[in-house]
Amino acid sequence: MALTGLQIQKLLPKTNCKECGSNTCLAFAMKLAARKAEIAECPYASEEAVGVLGAAYEPPVKGIGLGPEAKLRLGEETVLYRHEKTFVHPTALAVNVDDDAPGDLVDRTLRSVKEYSLERVGEVLGVDLLAVTHKGGPTEAFVALATRAWKETGKPLVLRSASAEALGAAAGAVSGSRSVLASATPETVDALLPIAREHGHVLALTAPSLDELVALASKVREAGVTDALLHFTTGSLAEQIQTNSIARRAAIKESFKPLGFAFLRFVLSPDLLAGSVEAVTEICKYGGICVLPAFDAAQLAALMTLRLNLYTDPQKPIQVEPNVYPIGEPTADSPVFLTTNFSLTYFIVGGEIENAGLSAWLVVPECEGMSVLTAWAAGKFSGASVAAFCKQAELEEKVTRRQIVIPGYVSQISGELEENLPGWTVLVGPQEASDLESFIKARLS
Ligand code: SF4
Repeated sequence: MALTGLQIQKLLPKTNCKECGSNTCLAFAMKLAARKAEIAECPYASEEAVGVLGAAYEPPVKGIGLGPEAKLRLGEETVLYRHEKTFVHPTALAVNVDDDAPGDLVDRTLRSVKEYSLERVGEVLGVDLLAVTHKGGPTEAFVALATRAWKETGKPLVLRSASAEALGAAAGAVSGSRSVLASATPETVDALLPIAREHGHVLALTAPSLDELVALASKVREAGVTDALLHFTTGSLAEQIQTNSIARRAAIKESFKPLGFAFLRFVLSPDLLAGSVEAVTEICKYGGICVLPAFDAAQLAALMTLRLNLYTDPQKPIQVEPNVYPIGEPTADSPVFLTTNFSLTYFIVGGEIENAGLSAWLVVPECEGMSVLTAWAAGKFSGASVAAFCKQAELEEKVTRRQIVIPGYVSQISGELEENLPGWTVLVGPQEASDLESFIKARLS
């Protein structure tokens, strides 16, 4: 029977020393109960605790961190379907550059990977890693490009070579970057394991079949290595879905440790559309790192948007900070609008005001990321709470106009809001943000 967090805490030293990365032993116990940590992370755990909380309490998919401070997290997934709970770490997107590519293409790729950013519902997204592929030429060219890529982008790398010797040389050159070495085969694993350990990199494992990969992963686990990635070599999309699903199901449902690692996939098709389908499949079916063959801003924007949709925790609505936001370039006399701090609502309302060619102030109180009607029904968007927020945000110091437009869905708060904001008039706006433009033209122009 699974133990609760409190039962697990009784087995821990209870010194709250924080060395495991949690603030208290109880917080660490809760992570163990949720299988989001492993007992080996507590250096002071007793033999009894290790015995009780050993393999059975490890996360089904081992968590790993990449980059010098291990900030890029992968793994730690506990469910097969997002609606069961949530997915934890989004598929990391990497862009590839070959070591025999023309100089101007290399320059462009490094610059683009470093500078690319996309803002979606308040989150700024970028390329997570850069993959450097050794095409079989001189090792020096591969090592030189890996060194330059790390220096210029500061992103963790996926170093890819069929030669263990070339991988070893590049691994040493970017020591400290906590990158991925791709990939150790049954023939090269003995040579690559100590190199990965020495330079703090993560080893990706590959083999011609799933059975051989399981054997390889078991061998690596027996050698005491728990940070690894699985690099499947499937050909068709059907195989890709099947293999990823079998592996993740075995890890989560059967606690099958050799397949309990994040996945690494190189998109094979050079065709943009076919390659995008491969990447979409990987993002939708448990991808850990997905390496795109080249930089394409439009492709990245589409993939990142898809990824955001899948990996946004449905239990935690995306929120914007409560604030009084300027839309356009408002002056003290500009109109004042009200909405909630649910990101989607904020961006839609702000966008419609901008589309109407108006500069205005948008008052966004704390509503725990709920939409207008939900926040009102939960008592988080009342006349009194909105008025209290306006005072706390010193709205009257910012604006001279004493009129606020509220969403039509909460017309019932207008009286209470006027009572709590003496000197203000409340104008009930449209129910739908899409009607704001005509409302603005009719009532505020
Ligand atoms: Fe408690 Fe061990 Fe974590 Fe220290 S390292 S806080 S003793 S669980």
